[in-house]
Amino acid sequence: MGYIELNVLNNDQSPQVMGIDLGTTNSLAATWKDGHPVVIKPEHSNSGSVPSVIHISEDGNVIVGQKALDQATVDPRHTIFSIKRMMGRGLADIQDDLEAFPFPISEDENGLLNIDVHGRQYTPQELSSLILLRVHDLGCRAMGGAEIQRAVITVPAYFDDTQRQATRDSARLAGIDVMRIINEPTAASLAYGLDQSASGNVAVYDLGGGTFDISILSIEDGVFHVLSTNGDTHLGGDDFDRALAKLVLDQLEGKLSSDELADPALQQAARLAAEKCKVKLSEQPEAELHLVLPDSGINVRRNVTREEFEALVSPLVQRTLDCCLQALADANLEVGEVAEVVMVGGSTRMPVVREGVEGFFKRLPHTELNPDEVVAIGAAIQAHILSGGSRDLLLMDVTPLSLGLETVGGAVSKIIARNSTIPCQATEGFTTYADNQTGIDFNILQGERELAQDCRSLGRFKLTGIPPMPAGLARIAVRFHVDADGLLTVTAREESTGVKSSIEVKPKHGLTDSAVEQMLEDSLTNARADFEAGRNAGLVTELGTMIHATEKSLPNVIDQLDPEQLADIREAIDAAREASDAKEKDGKSLQSARDALEQATMPLAAVLMDSVAKAALSGKSLSDV
Ligand code: ADP
Ligand code: MG
Repeated sequence: MGYIELNVLNNDQSPQVMGIDLGTTNSLAATWKDGHPVVIKPEHSNSGSVPSVIHISEDGNVIVGQKALDQATVDPRHTIFSIKRMMGRGLADIQDDLEAFPFPISEDENGLLNIDVHGRQYTPQELSSLILLRVHDLGCRAMGGAEIQRAVITVPAYFDDTQRQATRDSARLAGIDVMRIINEPTAASLAYGLDQSASGNVAVYDLGGGTFDISILSIEDGVFHVLSTNGDTHLGGDDFDRALAKLVLDQLEGKLSSDELADPALQQAARLAAEKCKVKLSEQPEAELHLVLPDSGINVRRNVTREEFEALVSPLVQRTLDCCLQALADANLEVGEVAEVVMVGGSTRMPVVREGVEGFFKRLPHTELNPDEVVAIGAAIQAHILSGGSRDLLLMDVTPLSLGLETVGGAVSKIIARNSTIPCQATEGFTTYADNQTGIDFNILQGERELAQDCRSLGRFKLTGIPPMPAGLARIAVRFHVDADGLLTVTAREESTGVKSSIEVKPKHGLTDSAVEQMLEDSLTNARADFEAGRNAGLVTELGTMIHATEKSLPNVIDQLDPEQLADIREAIDAAREASDAKEKDGKSLQSARDALEQATMPLAAVLMDSVAKAALSGKSLSDV
C-alpha cells in the first residue's frame, strides 16, 4: 500500500500560474507559455471572453457564460449579471442598480447581500466564484488539463478593502490560491511593459460594457502608484447599444402599442441587434441594424452609417472625457504631463472613442494589444513574475532568496520563490508522517539549495495539539506571508481542528547583499549535486514510509493475499531496505526499489481500500481497521 501515505508532503510546486480579469460584463484568463503571456481561448474559438453571467435552473443546475447570457431573455428572473457591482457592498451601495436587476436582492443581519434564486440565497462571493470556476476550468483545459491553482486576479483601482476581500473570498470558494489582487489599470500598463520602459505618468482609459474608469498612475522605478481615479459606474458599451436600439424602436412607435413596445423581450432583442451593428461599425463605414422577433412578427432593417452612429453617441464620449479632466485635476497634472495613454475595454475599439481620447490627451493612445485582453495579459505577467519567473528587467521590490520549509529527510520545500514581488503570500499543504503524531516542528529556511543543511534557517516553531490520527490524515496548511516591508509571518493550521501556531521572522535583515549573492552562486554551482541529494533524501523518506505502512498492515490482510503476492511484497521490502541503507545513495536503485515496492503492494492496497470502505460503511473509524 503506502501509495496513499506517500503524499507525506505535498511539495509539488506547479510552475503554471494564471491571470484572471474578473469583469463586470466579461471575464478572461491568460497564462504564461514559452516566454510570453497568452490569452486562454477554448478550442475552436477566437475569443476567450466568458460573459460574467450565471443562470441557475430550478433543479440547481448552474450554467455560466454565453449559454447563461442566452437565458437572459428567456428566464431573466434566474439569470444573474453584473455581480461585480455587488461584491463587498451593502444594499445602500447598490440602490442605483436595484431597478435594473430582475432578481430579488436582500441584506442579511451581517450586512451581506443575498440574491434569491429559486428560494435559495446566494452571496455575491458565491456567484462570483462560479464565474471564476468556469474561467479557471477553461484555462486548465486549454493548458492540456494542467492543474493551475495559483492566480493573480484584477480589480478596479477604486475597489476598497472590503471589495478586494470579497474578491479574494470568491477565489477561495473556487479553490483558487490568489497570489495577488492587482489593479486593472496596473495590469494593463504591465501588459504594455510600461513598468520597464518609462518613468512618468500614465492614463489608463477603460471603457467596458457597463462601466467607465479612468486611472492616472505614476510609475517610478517599476513601482506603480495610483494618483487618482474617476469614472462613471453607469456608463459603458451598453449605453451605446441603447442609443442605437432607440433608432429601430422609434421606427416601431405608432405601429405597436406602448405595452408591446415595453415588452422586455423586444427591448432585449433590439439591444442585441444594436450591439451587433455597433461592433460592425468599428470595422466598416456602414452596417445594417436588423431587428427580428418572429413571435411578434417584427422584422425591421435599417442601415446605419458610422457618421450617424458617432453623432448619436458623441455625448457619451464627451462624458468620459469630462471624467478624464476631473481625474487629471485630482492628480494635480496638466494634460502635457501624461506620458502614455493606455486603452482598455471592448468599447475602446470604437474609432469615435479612440479619436476622442487622442484629441483630449493630445497623443496617440496604446491600442496595439486587444483592449479586451490587456488586463488578463497584465495579470498573467504579474503571476509569472510572482511565481519566480522574471522578465528582462525587474524593478519591483522582491524577495531576494526563496523561502521554504524543511521537510522530512532534510529536503527543502520552497514556498515563496526567489524574486517574488512583495507583498506576497503562498499556502502549502502538509500532513503527518507518523501515526498518532501530535506535533510538527517547522524549520523556516531561506536559500536556493535543495537540502536544508545548505540553506539558512530563519527560525523554528512547533505546531502542537494535533489530534492523534493515522499518518497522512492531518491537513496542515502552512501559510507564508511577506508584507510590503519584507516581514515574513508563517502560520500553520491544522484544518480539521483549527489548531494554529505562528511565528514572525525578518528575512530581509541579517543577510547582506553579498551573502545573498554567495548563496545564489553556491546554488548554481551545486545545483546538480543538490538536486540529486534532495531527490535521494526524498526517496529514502518515501521508502521508509512505504515499508512501515506495508509491514504494519500486512498482518491484518495476510490471509487475503496469494502466497506469490506475499513473496513479491517481502522481496520488494528487502530490496527497498537495502537501497535506503546503502552508504552511498544511488538515485537509480532508490527509484527502482520504490517502483518495485509500489508494484508489489498494489494487491495489498486493493484489499486495504476494500476494508477501509467496509469499515466506513459500518461506522468504524480508520484507526480500528
Ligand atoms: P467589462 O470590462 O465591463 O467586463 P469588456 O471590456 O469586455 O467589459 O467590454 C464589453 C463591451 O465592449 C461591450 O459593451 C461590447 O459591446 C463592447 N465591444 C466589444 N467589441 C467591440 C467592438 N469591436 N466595437 C465596439 N464595442 C465593442
Ligand atoms: Mg474590464
